[in-house]
Amino acid sequence: MDFMKGYMGKILKVDLSSKKVSNIPLDKKLVDKFLGGAGYATAVLFKMLDKHTDPLGPENVLFFMSGPLLGTLATCTGRLVVCAKSPYTGILGESNAGNYIAPMIKRAGFDGILITGVSKTPVYLEITDDKAKIKDATDLWGKGIFESSEILLKTLGSRAKVMCIGPGGENLAKFANIGGDTRSFGRTGMGAVMGSKKLKAIIALGTKMVELAKPEEFKQHVLQVNKEMMEVYTHQVMGGLGTAANMNLYSLTGELPVKYWRGASFPEEDKISGATMAEKYLKRQRHCYACPIGCGRVISLGENDFGLPSSEISGPEYETIASFGSMMDNPSLEHIIKANYMCNDLGLDTVSTGGIISFLMDLIDRGKITAKDLDGIDLKWGKMDAVFQLIQKMATRDGVGDLLSKGSNAVGRYFGIDTEQVGTVNNSEVIYHDSRASHGMAIAYGLSPHYGGSHNACDMYMVSLGLSREEMEIEMIPSHDNTPKMAVSAARTMEYRAFYSSYGMCVFANPPTDQIAKTIELGTGLPYDIERIKITGKRILALKRLFNLKMGFTREMERMPKILLTPLEGGTEGAVPDTHLLFSEYYKYLNWNAVTGKPSEKVIRELGLEEFSNF
Ligand code: SF4
Repeated sequence: MDFMKGYMGKILKVDLSSKKVSNIPLDKKLVDKFLGGAGYATAVLFKMLDKHTDPLGPENVLFFMSGPLLGTLATCTGRLVVCAKSPYTGILGESNAGNYIAPMIKRAGFDGILITGVSKTPVYLEITDDKAKIKDATDLWGKGIFESSEILLKTLGSRAKVMCIGPGGENLAKFANIGGDTRSFGRTGMGAVMGSKKLKAIIALGTKMVELAKPEEFKQHVLQVNKEMMEVYTHQVMGGLGTAANMNLYSLTGELPVKYWRGASFPEEDKISGATMAEKYLKRQRHCYACPIGCGRVISLGENDFGLPSSEISGPEYETIASFGSMMDNPSLEHIIKANYMCNDLGLDTVSTGGIISFLMDLIDRGKITAKDLDGIDLKWGKMDAVFQLIQKMATRDGVGDLLSKGSNAVGRYFGIDTEQVGTVNNSEVIYHDSRASHGMAIAYGLSPHYGGSHNACDMYMVSLGLSREEMEIEMIPSHDNTPKMAVSAARTMEYRAFYSSYGMCVFANPPTDQIAKTIELGTGLPYDIERIKITGKRILALKRLFNLKMGFTREMERMPKILLTPLEGGTEGAVPDTHLLFSEYYKYLNWNAVTGKPSEKVIRELGLEEFSNF
């Protein structure tokens, strides 16, 4: 079809209730406003869902969507986003991952996949050039992600790519993930939504080429962007040591959370650092599609006593290392690798899984529960054999696993624990950059659009480390700052990352913004510049807020529990973010109503969001 370059021009629509497969033309007006990715998906979901939508019911919609240049060379855009109403938070569910199935879907001729309804029996979706079939997956149901993927690959050959849920998603664990061929769609329970639809997997094999507006200029430009980007030290470190490169620094500054947010430092951080993993087990870097950085880890423990395969497996990311390491007072890298392997196979988000289990350790430590409450499992700080048993139970919802599969807040309610002592925001375990060490992260935790605590939505820990951005007016603010400047810098970072979420770019890749604009222009033919990136980011951030308000989100839900704001000695030197000031300055800067949480009429008008403002 006739559409701007870069895009394939159509979305695959799959209704699992009627087993009907069809194509929907890509909406040019939505592309103009939101570019693609999470912005486009949120705009579509806004019209289809409301506050009465049951996230695990047939009326929820699961939308996999790409950015405009997925499937091309464009720097670090090999990511796919998945959105739905989240069963974990009740607001926008959004998770993105760099996988090779992402470009395969695009090369099969689709910019996205919109999944509605529910199948009566387990199925999987097979996508080839311009075609899709719904196939029986009864034999796969109950199997882990690794085995299921292997079986499916035999059907289309090893060039095909798979994404899949494990028992966690099948059993509707509310923080279940979707495992991709290299990385997982981890947060906000998108695996549970897929499980509720009885959709076990998607396999894709595409052979089409993505057409570009100015192919030769595009290629030369992207090669130059990549070259210059890889001359920057931070990108090199990320490639060499992975996302856990800064473990020692984070431990020193107190950014690394310890013993369920109550510890001040983790003296054994060396044992679980990216450098140690590289030295002991790294076989090679793993690059997402079109990424020159390669922060992914492919490791091997060889013959081992940990019950892990001797072959190559994925190494854990920083968040997973913090989750099963310092948060649990566990200095064993091998045990972290095993927990990561289990979660990736069973289909559980490593941030939430580790957060819930370290919460249980804290409850045991404070005498609030005993082993009897955990089916007799003797859980203590650092006792990882007990952790492995609980992970298994969470995925299968066996015994106490049924309670744990609902998350920390459900656990806290069941045992009568003060909600101020549960490290969640909006029901979701926050990620692992302690906001007492990096105050801008309080804004990421309290105010990010798609769940409590998104580092992708607002990586202020990086800005405070020096990732300023003059052209976007994002100022480097010292970590312990509690002034309006911090709020403004965080809000602008959030706008910028909202743009990233639609462009489909990895937040670890930070070439100058004018280079990104030029990439879009040369690839799609759409006129793009820094100003357009700014306004698009603002628009997407406001749209996500409007979506959340339509789902029933209120400002009262924007709160940080006391456990995350209790002063600690050590690296953070007793500092805490002033959330009252930072949050109210954030609203002021954005010109959103601080009582209702809604963007003002002026903002809605200026951003052209009128059709999303009445609900
Ligand atoms: S920097 Fe890492 S996560 Fe980002 S695209 Fe590259 S390999 Fe993937």
